[in-house]
Amino acid sequence: MWRRPKRFIAFLVVAEVAAIGWFVHVILDMAAPTHLDLLRFAILTAGATVHIQMTRRQEERRRNRVRTVLIDLTAVWVFPAAIILPSPLTLVLVLLIRVQHWFVARRPAHNFVFSSITHMLAATVAHQVFVTLGGQQWMSLTVTSSFGEFGKLVFVGLVYEAVQILYVGSILSLSAKSRPTVRSVLGSKADNLLEAITIGLGAVTAILLVILPPTVAIMAVVTVVFNRLAELDQLQDDVRTDPKTQVYNMRGWTESAERALTRAGKSDDNLGVLMIDLDHFKWINDTYGHPAGDDVLRNLAQLLDEVTRPSDVVGRFGGEEFLVLLPETDQAAATGAAERIRSSVAELRIVTTDKRGDQITVSGRTASIGVAVFPDHGDSLEKLMQAADAAVYEAKEGGRNQVRLAEHRPHRPASAGA
Ligand code: GH3
Ligand code: MG
Ligand code: MG
Repeated sequence: MWRRPKRFIAFLVVAEVAAIGWFVHVILDMAAPTHLDLLRFAILTAGATVHIQMTRRQEERRRNRVRTVLIDLTAVWVFPAAIILPSPLTLVLVLLIRVQHWFVARRPAHNFVFSSITHMLAATVAHQVFVTLGGQQWMSLTVTSSFGEFGKLVFVGLVYEAVQILYVGSILSLSAKSRPTVRSVLGSKADNLLEAITIGLGAVTAILLVILPPTVAIMAVVTVVFNRLAELDQLQDDVRTDPKTQVYNMRGWTESAERALTRAGKSDDNLGVLMIDLDHFKWINDTYGHPAGDDVLRNLAQLLDEVTRPSDVVGRFGGEEFLVLLPETDQAAATGAAERIRSSVAELRIVTTDKRGDQITVSGRTASIGVAVFPDHGDSLEKLMQAADAAVYEAKEGGRNQVRLAEHRPHRPASAGA
């Protein structure tokens, strides 16, 4: 945390101190909780505990991931507390939830404290708003008055989400390395939708808790199932990702490439395909061991990601071979991109460990790169990959560490133009 920018730390400290001051105020303001309050508190705590413990393995899987979507469904328990319980009890509930979370999903401590405070702030502010709106509890409502109560719940839900977005958003915009985007600050549409649904489930939990408390058990089951569904999105991503290097695997790359090729065909654009094969990669495995080889592959994948444009698509073909798709790129530009990649591979320095576990730096590695371009070297992905692969072979024959353009093949005599 202390290595972050000064304004980040300053904001973090000020925001947390202000929030804690507010919590103290809330606690001092409190009347003694009734028996009913304590009973409801116990039910929510039990539900949250079942939820967290039943989704443990899932959270652990998530912890090991590099890229993750935010799946935090605890609002299902915190939101009803915000509506129904006196705020200090809600604070205790959040604390109990967060402590359990801490053991499952270890995150940097300052992130953890900050997001705990965010939950507490959202809940207590939402509670104040609900009280101010004159929200009542729903034992005996007419149909007409239930609409009014529903409106209040929706509004309080929005306040709850807004507090979180504003509080987290401002810290994200201060800590971002590059210029913050709307998406990086406010979260993706999918994240916010998930949060909104969670709050909706929380509102249902609140109603059940007031009217028919044992049915809260049903909500515990629902949230566990919902938690698993939310993970599906992540799994769909995983199917297209190479676990070792985190770039596309062949399934993901081919899907993406086929779409790009169809677009290029329709709009009469060029499109480049690079096949990149590390030279004498086996030597690294033989000399330093496979873990070192893996580190080299990971670093190469990251390098490819960095030196290409955002619209380019990087994939791992297999072994030590990678593919890069370059939309709207002709022969000259594709060869230029390949040259850039070749020279940055030569400059790559990878710190890793050898067979005995001693630290070493792998450097001076080279790559042979084959370049094929649509439509010059083929009109299908398969032909383009074949052409690029043949060009890699030429580059190897020619002495490695070089870029070769595929042989020109007049494959479409019917449309042969200038
Ligand atoms: P060339 O210059 O002709 O390309 O030689 P090379 O050694 O790079 O090529 P070769 O095809 O002989 O060897 C590729 C090696 O890559 C053999 C295989 O064990 C290794 N390899 C394939 N996948 C992985 C992997 O995921 N991790 C590691 N560490 N090695 C891998
Ligand atoms: Mg190879
Ligand atoms: Mg090789």
